[in-house]
Amino acid sequence: MSGTTAFYYSDDMLKYYFGPDHPFQPIRYRKIRDTLEEIGAFGHTLHLEEPRPARIDCLRMVHSSAYIDRVRELSEVGEGYLDRGDTPATPTLYQGALAVTGGTLAATEAVVKGVFTHGLNPAGGMHHAHPDRASGFCVFNDLAVAARLLQKRHGIERIAIIDIDGHHGDGTQHIFYNEKVLTISLHRYGKGFYPGTGSEREIGRGEGYGYAINVPLPANTPDEAYLYAYRKVVKEALDAYRPEFILHQFGTDAHFGDSLVDLSLTTKAYEGIAEFTHDLAHKYCDGRYVVTGGGGYNIDAARRVWAIATCAISGACPFEPEGLHHLQDSLIHTRHHFAAEDLNDKLEYLQKFVLPLIQ
Ligand SMILES: [Zn+2]
Ligand SMILES: [Zn+2]
Repeated sequence: MSGTTAFYYSDDMLKYYFGPDHPFQPIRYRKIRDTLEEIGAFGHTLHLEEPRPARIDCLRMVHSSAYIDRVRELSEVGEGYLDRGDTPATPTLYQGALAVTGGTLAATEAVVKGVFTHGLNPAGGMHHAHPDRASGFCVFNDLAVAARLLQKRHGIERIAIIDIDGHHGDGTQHIFYNEKVLTISLHRYGKGFYPGTGSEREIGRGEGYGYAINVPLPANTPDEAYLYAYRKVVKEALDAYRPEFILHQFGTDAHFGDSLVDLSLTTKAYEGIAEFTHDLAHKYCDGRYVVTGGGGYNIDAARRVWAIATCAISGACPFEPEGLHHLQDSLIHTRHHFAAEDLNDKLEYLQKFVLPLIQ
């Protein structure tokens, strides 16, 4: 595929930091960049760019001024929590959140203006953030801000937001629940699993009826079943929706080595997801495709998954595919029970009742 890809990174993204004992560790962003440098990925088709922090007027397209002020003030104090106990307000958090959001906005602007074909931000993907509250380590919903920027400043109407994080993209879904913005989320779903939403029966409301797609996954969902569900649902939804722009939340916590989510993906599944979605972006929207990070609590898995996906999307890897072999999972993952029939039931429901609603 032709076109160039930008990869956004700044040291300020590392300020999105909740402390040494917190599961969320932004150092993975730097490790991803370093790995890409080591394998010689930057240069011909992949460019390393440093984004500016997000501007407050952009944040206000999604978040209330009162909430933005509260984040800044609590961060200045550097104590307490932004939610009920998952998301601590640390002294650098506000600046970090602006940097992380800035990466997604810079990628989106560059792609919509045609400066780059694809934009990648290994940070961002803060899909649990709501207009007036933080949740699940997410402060500002950069995906939603990017979508609003596309709608309001660039007249883009048909936006697809695809979310492969192991957790449901509840904040993003909530923000666009009554609109024809297509949100697709595949995630672990079950009793007591955070955030508790994301059933296949949540399908949008009003104007947005049929435009929220949820694929709840049983424990231990492996590569083949995931890729089958992903290709089927995403292709069918995008065939009907014909997006002008694709935003992809590419969290890596569905990897088998991640301790926060009990799904069983390997690096091969992520490579397949990246290739498939990249192809669809060329098919529907002249390649206009922005990919953000998300969850990823196994730092080494996140690093390898993102380096592989970046090469798949940008075509930047100067070696043959075997050249990335050292980044693929080497351990054979032990199989645990996976309720395939449960997933098939959900897919049947979506196929029968939800996907036909998209126009
Ligand atoms: Zn491309
Ligand atoms: Zn997650």
